[in-house]
Amino acid sequence: MRSSLATLAATATAALGRQPDWIAAAPGRVNLIGEHIDYCDGFVMPFAIDRYVVMAAAKNGTSMSRWSSEGQPDACIPHDETQKIGEPAWANYLRGVIEGFRSLGHDIPGIDVAVVSSVPRGAGLSSSAALECAVATLLESVLGIELSKRDKALICQKAEHEFAGVPCGIMDQFASTFGEADRLVMIDCRNQEVQLVPFENPDLTVIIANTRVHHQLSDGAYAERRRHTEQALACLAQSSWREVTLDQVMEKWQQLGEPVNRRARHVVTEIERTQRAAELLAAREYEAFGALMDASHASLRDDFEVSCAELDVMVDIAQSLRGRGVLGARMTGGGFGGSTVTLCETAKAEEVMAILRERYQAATGIEPEIFSSRPSRGAHAFAKGD
Ligand code: ADP
Ligand code: MG
Repeated sequence: MRSSLATLAATATAALGRQPDWIAAAPGRVNLIGEHIDYCDGFVMPFAIDRYVVMAAAKNGTSMSRWSSEGQPDACIPHDETQKIGEPAWANYLRGVIEGFRSLGHDIPGIDVAVVSSVPRGAGLSSSAALECAVATLLESVLGIELSKRDKALICQKAEHEFAGVPCGIMDQFASTFGEADRLVMIDCRNQEVQLVPFENPDLTVIIANTRVHHQLSDGAYAERRRHTEQALACLAQSSWREVTLDQVMEKWQQLGEPVNRRARHVVTEIERTQRAAELLAAREYEAFGALMDASHASLRDDFEVSCAELDVMVDIAQSLRGRGVLGARMTGGGFGGSTVTLCETAKAEEVMAILRERYQAATGIEPEIFSSRPSRGAHAFAKGD
């Protein structure tokens, strides 16, 4: 569902059923390269996509918030007590962010909130970060305060850790808050520094292909991958992955053991690829950039083992169109389903999308969701009357 922000805001207002006092929006994200290394002091290169969670809210004169979102049970959250994980489950993202503001000493007044979204859920495009960042942006408006983008993202990351049980890195929430039109959000995850990298060449199109599968093992496997990388770093006797070279990993290959040695090789090579990709982008070397996306996919599939049959099918189809418009393709996000990202020449993008749709469906029997997105504006509130 592609809807403009104005349409989403109008839908949220209609769902609220009265004139909102505040409207806030936060986007999902896609990552071009640098996967599973945001929790390893690596570099990542996501951008905010043109898909948003939008919230319309009005005061309700109580000390609690009441939340509705299409397809989900309504949630009621008292603000005057320490938040705990509970039902409905989707409200845990809300509770986590509310707790973040409470722990800063803020008294949050009672509000009714209607949530609408164009971010596909569970598709590796971070609808969860979009939801958290939209709540945080809404609460800023309600409280009349403005946090730094960094602090806001960190509150949201903490919510994801403590209330959703996902030990994610900083990429998703940073991309959702720092995103800007025509800019990639290059993040140095060691010092959490953000560099907005121009991505405005109209001859390039980023295609996002949602496989529409989501394998259940993803949550436990994510935490396990994180543990493997920590184990590897300890075995390598280093404090940061940025100090580790491929030679060091290969020297300790036996000692690291299976599969931790391959996990380590992914981290080290992916950090290197992402740094190189940034240089290639600046030099407008798009073919070489695309080749690094392909290599990133192979590493995620073979060494980090977070791909799956459907992601591989979609990536294989895209990569087979190299020379016919495709520059590179890989899985994006946590893996085990979700989406792929393909860098493509704009002149060929429609044709490539049609082929991806047709061949993926023929191979899997699943109708994928395929769209393109330019880097878009990050989380923001709408002024009254906008
Ligand atoms: P991803 O972040 O890749 O989309 P996650 O599993 O991390 O996948 O997050 C998806 C979860 O986030 C959903 O199961 C739901 O609980 C919550 N969520 C996301 N968007 C919405 C929404 N618009 N309304 C209610 N819950 C949502
Ligand atoms: Mg998520």
